[in-house]
Amino acid sequence: MADAEDTTETVCRVCGFEGEVFWEGGWPNEAAICPCCGNEPDVGDASVTGLRSYRGYWVGRGAPWNSSLEERKHRREGWDLLKQMENIPPQWR
Ligand SMILES: [Zn+2]
Repeated sequence: MADAEDTTETVCRVCGFEGEVFWEGGWPNEAAICPCCGNEPDVGDASVTGLRSYRGYWVGRGAPWNSSLEERKHRREGWDLLKQMENIPPQWR
């Protein structure tokens, strides 16, 4: 993972939602909160173990969206959780 520090992550490590800058240059964007799973960078996703339990808990509750506005938008487009989860980078699965 030599390039990790140069990476801008726009995909949520927990749920695979794409569209916000969650991590930049190895640092969490503290202003970001995932509109889908509600994860805050460095809170739920600081380690693989931590984010797996966050993800498991979230999915176990029925994968509720954090933002109902975004939820309506994405459900209209035929949102599919499993499909979205395919965006999760392999190291965070
Ligand atoms: Zn998320």
